Amino acid sequence: MNLILLGPPGAGKGTQSQYLIKKYGLPQISTGDMLREARKNQTELGKKAEEFMNAGKLVPDEVVIGIVGERLKKADCAKGFILDGFPRTAAQADALARLLADDGKKIDAVLNIEVPESELISRLSGRRVCENCGATYHVTIAPTKMMGTCDKCSGSVVQRKDDAEETVKNRLKVYQESTSPLIGYYKDKGLLKTLPGVGSVGAISSSIDNVLTGVSG
Ligand code: AMP
Repeated sequence: MNLILLGPPGAGKGTQSQYLIKKYGLPQISTGDMLREARKNQTELGKKAEEFMNAGKLVPDEVVIGIVGERLKKADCAKGFILDGFPRTAAQADALARLLADDGKKIDAVLNIEVPESELISRLSGRRVCENCGATYHVTIAPTKMMGTCDKCSGSVVQRKDDAEETVKNRLKVYQESTSPLIGYYKDKGLLKTLPGVGSVGAISSSIDNVLTGVSG
């Protein structure tokens, strides 16, 4: 099954990807994670992407399309994949369709997770992430047991640069302008499955199960 997780930053795409990985055994392709890794290692790609990411802007299409194209060629994508945070523009969506068609593949469903903007701002600006293992926390909803220390690996728990409130507002604006048109794009193709992203993680996972019933890939 080839899936896209669509939704604004903070909608819970990463969290629900973890559920889908376990349930369907599919690899998660998160362009945000790949770009953060490249930035951390200061590779050519990481250096190119850094400035855009820190400002909450989109990394240029050709850069992101290139890394997704390479990733989709890997053997673990043969039986399906979960795209998290890609595509984010119409040009990326068109490029994805071409990449898949070249390989005789297609997208089976697009999960559109909806969350009100006020909730997104509070989720993102309170979000904290372990620098070592990537575990996520929230200052009030899901704090670490010891301040600044990861419960799972004792790594440092910090705020992502792009989760600072001003940058969050910019990321949401970018989502509205560049990414939300993809809702109509995939609706027209009959692939869109919209579900509410508010409530417990388990309840949202159950909604995903419901909308995926009958989707085959
Ligand atoms: P995310 O973790 O998905 O919110 O991504 C973090 C940042 O990485 C974004 O704010 C962008 O700067 C960059 N990024 C991730 N995915 C994409 C994409 N598909 N297109 C352009 N930029 C991206």
